Amino acid sequence: MTTQGLVELTAKLMAIPSVSRNEVEIADWTQQFLSNLPWLEVTRFKNSIIARTMLGRSERVLMAGHLDTVPPAGNEQPVVDDSGLFGLGSCDMKGGLAVMLLLAKTHPKPGRDLTFILYSGEEIERSANELRMLAEKHRDLLECDVAILCEPTNSRVEAGCQGSIRMQVIIRGTRAHSARPWMGKNAIHLAAPLISLLGHEDLHRVPIDGCEFIETSQAVGIQGGVAGNVVPDEVRVTINSRFAPDKTLDQAIELLRSRFISSFQPGDIVEVSVEDATPGAPPNLSNPLLKELVEISSQDPVAKLGLTDVSLFAELGIAATNFGPGDSGLAHSPQERVENDDLFKSHECLSKFIDPT
Ligand SMILES: [Zn+2]
Repeated sequence: MTTQGLVELTAKLMAIPSVSRNEVEIADWTQQFLSNLPWLEVTRFKNSIIARTMLGRSERVLMAGHLDTVPPAGNEQPVVDDSGLFGLGSCDMKGGLAVMLLLAKTHPKPGRDLTFILYSGEEIERSANELRMLAEKHRDLLECDVAILCEPTNSRVEAGCQGSIRMQVIIRGTRAHSARPWMGKNAIHLAAPLISLLGHEDLHRVPIDGCEFIETSQAVGIQGGVAGNVVPDEVRVTINSRFAPDKTLDQAIELLRSRFISSFQPGDIVEVSVEDATPGAPPNLSNPLLKELVEISSQDPVAKLGLTDVSLFAELGIAATNFGPGDSGLAHSPQERVENDDLFKSHECLSKFIDPT
């Protein structure tokens, strides 16, 4: 199969619908594809496929990508034009999966042992993520020296990833008749300084290993109110914060908690609860294998702004990065597409990386 086969392979994967929770067909197809390659040991775990070379090399490279997509936006029919592929899953991330499958097919004896993981349940709640389940149940299958998530990065190393915390700030006042508000304390009004703090915060930039991570906090939900004539006694503000991986999850939670609390007056009754929290991943660019990938890509690395399963590998103590074809800015949009040249570039860089001379 030539690199032109890469475009056909991407189109083939795009033509198999695989919205999250409906990955059986694409998992079957992938399992079949990899099982036809006798140099690979293929394992199936639920709707995820793991394929490994067992050559006893001194280093092992793991490449991973998710099989599922978000729901279609009128773009479920793949369209192939002269310069690329257009449609659901093209960049997020069937282009990356096609690169992995072609590498598996054309490198029966790579210089580094390879593990390919094509997994289900990435685009939905964390508890459905089969890579995370695999890490819990079959940690040995994730053993490697470096992990590459073939998520769309325009074939550039997007190092590490931000952590993410969703918190709820609950502010309590005193209920009263709205005609006599001085008898109570309006919880919605008490939230004003917090909302203002969030709305006027400067972007906080944190450089790590030459990559700039941007920290942000956004109010993503607000609930409050009792009735049209009642001073409300409670308001809940949900905040999503993205933090740089120079902090542990506990440090980030503590910093945010104290910053949010500081916007209230002494005597205000405020509670903060953490609803969901995922640590970030450091760029790890002093790792010799990641350094090598940066050199091969011939582009400066940038920080990953967003959360990917690189954070899972960081939790497992494995150096990992994002690297794959496609523009992540187009992911989840009706304009989703991937350029042929980008597919070829990712394939070429990863070919060199897994088979150093
Ligand atoms: Zn993705």
